[in-house]
Amino acid sequence: IVAARDLVKSFGAHRVLHEVSFSVAPSQVVVVIGPSGSGKSTLLRCCNALEVPEDGTLTVCGTDLVRNGTLIPERELNALRMQVGMVFQSFNLFPHLTVLDNVSVGPRSLRRMPRAEAEALARDLLGKVGLAQKAEAYPATLSGGQKQRVAIARALAMQPRVMLFDEPTSALDPELVGEVLQVMKGLAREGMTMIVVTHEMGFAREVADVVMVMDGGRIIEEGPPEQIFGAPRNPRTRSFLQAVI
Ligand code: ATP
Ligand code: MG
Repeated sequence: IVAARDLVKSFGAHRVLHEVSFSVAPSQVVVVIGPSGSGKSTLLRCCNALEVPEDGTLTVCGTDLVRNGTLIPERELNALRMQVGMVFQSFNLFPHLTVLDNVSVGPRSLRRMPRAEAEALARDLLGKVGLAQKAEAYPATLSGGQKQRVAIARALAMQPRVMLFDEPTSALDPELVGEVLQVMKGLAREGMTMIVVTHEMGFAREVADVVMVMDGGRIIEEGPPEQIFGAPRNPRTRSFLQAVI
């Protein structure tokens, strides 16, 4: 579903991704770990064309995002973004809309889904993330964990083929982390393709098919969690894990 080859990205003179290559197969869960500033968010944002790689090739859901160093046209980009759901550390809900409207507005405006159908879908997804009873509430009245679950439901409402998560639990109080991870585990079990940047090593161990370790703009090691956590090959993986576990 995602295939990147030799991706290069710089901000000014600062090279943030150095010829990064990886691929994600349908239904795979890839967890990306690594120290702050190693390029995890940048890599994820490239997959949604929030950042444009300056070199290399990137194919997402069958579309080549970059052709000859330039981004594909806006129309194709919009079609692609509908297939790629993204959940950020900050929930980015619309404060003036109810939970139900937050989840149904995307399908209504971007997919031209009739209101009744979009709301039925939204209620279904809110049930799935355990928030059926909060449909009429406004975001300001929700806890962080509830907001993040709404954000997940909102992304799912676009019926994406792949979900990107950038530290979805980092802004949450510790006691609220579990409810969000639980929803993500459920998605993984249902076969959703996911790329997850997280510091939750328990989640990585339990849910990841592949763990990618980034450092200095490179993937320094990747493999199944048993290998990465049990027998890391790269000394920098070892020192990173020692620092975080
Ligand atoms: P963290 O764990 O702190 O979120 P990260 O691994 O997600 O870190 P990135 O956010 O991808 O790291 O950043 C990689 C490097 O690129 C950092 O040195 C960062 O300062 C730089 N960077 C990221 N975004 C920009 C930007 N918009 N402009 C300039 N530099 C940027
Ligand atoms: Mg980041």
